Amino acid sequence: MVIALYPGSFDPVTNGHLDIISRAASLFERVIVAVYDAPPKAVMFTTQERVELLKEAVRDIPNVEVMSYSGLTVDLARRLGARLVIRGLRALSDFEREFEMALMNKKLAPEVESVFMMSNLEWQFLAASRVKEVAQLGGDITNLVPPHVAQALRAKVGAGRPRAG
Ligand code: ADP
Repeated sequence: MVIALYPGSFDPVTNGHLDIISRAASLFERVIVAVYDAPPKAVMFTTQERVELLKEAVRDIPNVEVMSYSGLTVDLARRLGARLVIRGLRALSDFEREFEMALMNKKLAPEVESVFMMSNLEWQFLAASRVKEVAQLGGDITNLVPPHVAQALRAKVGAGRPRAG
């Protein structure tokens, strides 16, 4: 059985991530989406929240599982018996960072392959960071994330906003 690991921050999951997940699920027998516990950047959602939002988003795809992890991605891949690490690639912005990370992972674990899936045209310019920024400024994010994620974003930014008056 080919197990594919899809790691990331998913803060929060967007339609771009979901496009990669559903396409990966049609190619590989088992897809494990792994949420970094402590990414090297500030997060809006806790690990538990990021996992729950993802679980709800993929609940209709039977061969996709969601978990959280800490430590090296390649160590997790080895523990799970995953031979593939999937990453999504958007135009220009991701290439250099992903290339460098894939080479480092190859050094650390030669038996684990990095597989890149090109983002669909529709989601090429969609980034979770931009979605958060737009949500914080009160913009419409309905077509960029699933409805339950849009709701969670609105609740988060609403809670953080100082009350008028
Ligand atoms: P990370 O912190 O590891 O970059 P992200 O949650 O930002 O985690 O992204 C996880 C993976 O999903 C990365 O491979 C990233 O390039 C990819 N990704 C992010 N947004 C999109 C998108 N709009 N389309 C396709 N892939 C994407």
